[in-house]
Amino acid sequence: MSEPRVDTVLKIGGSVITDKNGELAAKTNEIDRIAEEIQKTKAQGLVIVHGGGSFGHPYAQRYGLKEGFKQESQKVGFSETHHVMTVLNGLMMDALVWHGVQAISIAPSSCLITENGRIKDFVDAPLKRYLNMGFMPVLYGDAVLDTKLGFTILSGDQLISYLASKLHAERIVVGVDVDGVYDSDPKTDGNSRLLKNLTLQDLKKLRTKLGKPTLSDVTGGMLGKITELVPAVEQGIHVTVVNATKPNYVYRALKGDPVEGTTIRKE
Ligand code: ADP
Repeated sequence: MSEPRVDTVLKIGGSVITDKNGELAAKTNEIDRIAEEIQKTKAQGLVIVHGGGSFGHPYAQRYGLKEGFKQESQKVGFSETHHVMTVLNGLMMDALVWHGVQAISIAPSSCLITENGRIKDFVDAPLKRYLNMGFMPVLYGDAVLDTKLGFTILSGDQLISYLASKLHAERIVVGVDVDGVYDSDPKTDGNSRLLKNLTLQDLKKLRTKLGKPTLSDVTGGMLGKITELVPAVEQGIHVTVVNATKPNYVYRALKGDPVEGTTIRKE
């Protein structure tokens, strides 16, 4: 099978498509708007990954899934967490399909296994074949099996970096609910500054400087994202972080048009 050409791996943050202060609180208008923006780009070679927000995270946290299998009572929590992610994914798919996008949902829990939380085996043949046929695969952060832990939580952020490297993508676009990467959390620090251009070296420095992720997010806020992005940036993949809650920012980022946000390059 020939290698598919992948231009962009797009991450849509859970903070964009759900209300993180609620539980199972989908922002359906936002989901619809983003689906429409994706459709408008007529993008080829695009892979989408979305986060869990108020669907996956509260369940994963309640059952302590990230730390792995410790007791039988967690198993129903594993089922619930995966299930609510399929519900959120269904809303995303609904919007994409009804906007006429040839999107196809791929469940990480069915095609990959981690080892101590890191992706180890990924059955990529269907994904690649879908891409070769011009489909747009849609994946998400999920509850997955783990060779050492029994099971764990896979973040959408680990997935984007992994997929972009594996598929030799040109770039990663990360859509979040803030204007880009700041020198501190803009939601808690009124003096934080937006960092418009970062190199790999800047990114590594920032990783050590940034604070702890919020409690409700089991996979790690901006610090988690930066940590995951480092290996992709090392491989020369360009990253753009934009505010996906602002209309047409995702559209412009996908088109490669100038848009406010953070650009991360190796040098
Ligand atoms: P998502 O669910 O969209 O993937 P997260 O909530 O995991 O996003 O991460 C984005 C959040 O990270 C922002 O809403 C912001 O409050 C927080 N954050 C913490 N530190 C920073 C930083 N230095 N720059 C930007 N955002 C930050």
